[in-house]
Amino acid sequence: MVLAIFDFLDPTPSTCLGMTCKAFYPIHRERHGAVHLTTKGLYDPIKKCLWQLLRSFFPGLVFCFEIKKFVTLERCEEIPHVSSFGLERLQESIFRMVEDLPSRSS
Ligand SMILES: [Zn+2]
Repeated sequence: MVLAIFDFLDPTPSTCLGMTCKAFYPIHRERHGAVHLTTKGLYDPIKKCLWQLLRSFFPGLVFCFEIKKFVTLERCEEIPHVSSFGLERLQESIFRMVEDLPSRSS
């Protein structure tokens, strides 16, 4: 049954499911290989990137558009952002602002 689910999923949700448990990750890798954090969902109408789906797996880290990895905020700010486009820098800033907002449930 689990194998059938991995066969059904496209690479980005398969990565998310694979990261939920040590037994699932090898199954994901066998089916889909390494999936880059900037890969977009094939059948996701919103076309979210893998890094957006995995953000909650890395509490306290930000996705740095320059090196395309999750890093601490301090590390991101140390890295010269020379190759990322203006739009990516804007997205990075917006995601940080949203994460800094107090939770609405409190
Ligand atoms: Zn950065």
